[in-house]
Amino acid sequence: MLPEIEQYFRLEKLPHMWCPGCGNGIILHCLVKAIDKLCLDQDQTSIVSGIGCAARASGYLDFDTLHTTHGRALAFATGVKLAKPELNVFVLTGDGDCTAIGGNHFIHAARRNINLTTIVFNNNIYGMTGGQYSPMTPNASRATTSPYGNLERPFNLAELAIAAGATFVGRASTYHTKLLTDLIIEGYRNKGFSLIEVITHCPTSFGRQNKMGSPADMLKWQRDHGVTALRYDNLTPEERVGKFVVGVLHKDEAPEYTAEYQKLVEKFLGR
Ligand code: SF4
Ligand code: MG
Repeated sequence: MLPEIEQYFRLEKLPHMWCPGCGNGIILHCLVKAIDKLCLDQDQTSIVSGIGCAARASGYLDFDTLHTTHGRALAFATGVKLAKPELNVFVLTGDGDCTAIGGNHFIHAARRNINLTTIVFNNNIYGMTGGQYSPMTPNASRATTSPYGNLERPFNLAELAIAAGATFVGRASTYHTKLLTDLIIEGYRNKGFSLIEVITHCPTSFGRQNKMGSPADMLKWQRDHGVTALRYDNLTPEERVGKFVVGVLHKDEAPEYTAEYQKLVEKFLGR
């Protein structure tokens, strides 16, 4: 581990439990790099996670962390932010955790525009709990619960977040590490609800079931399928199949929930 990021980890908790070649460590590295660049005080920064492979990340970090229940990371994070609005709060969650069990919390956190930076580790599957398809498993992909191909259409999480009211939305992959670090920084600076979706490679479950090859092959797939919005606009409908747009996808301004709440308290308590 690089000495400059060692201070952010609970070294006694390592080595981690993730599979060899998993993308989760890359996301964690980008997160602590972003926190380091932002010079955030570790004692004023809280990391909240739900359940699943991605959610394990909070346990390896030396901040005030909350490893909560399945799908409830955003509900706990909302409580933390309301009780202590001065804290920097990051939420780490997986695609199943965030969009199935936690789907309702997700849309309402975005609707309230509460100042949380939410990083969704999208490995397209429930990795830890048995390889079942999630609401973000691509149509026709294999999972243990869709051995002949997934019949369902996946969410476009970025569009869902924008429609619900998020004021910053970005997407990167575990191949696009510089972009991912920059998006976390920009998402943190947004005074409102920020979503950063990360397409991450899961060689053990999604990758194995869909014959995507080694972790390196999966990273090459991300390199070849992640495109900028400008490039995407210039592709034909056939060329767009399987491609995902990376970069800043949405920026907006709206009242932030904890600030509005504080104004209300001051007005009625005369503070
Ligand atoms: Fe990573 Fe997939 Fe293994 Fe979970 S199951 S630790 S996401 S490789
Ligand atoms: Mg998942």
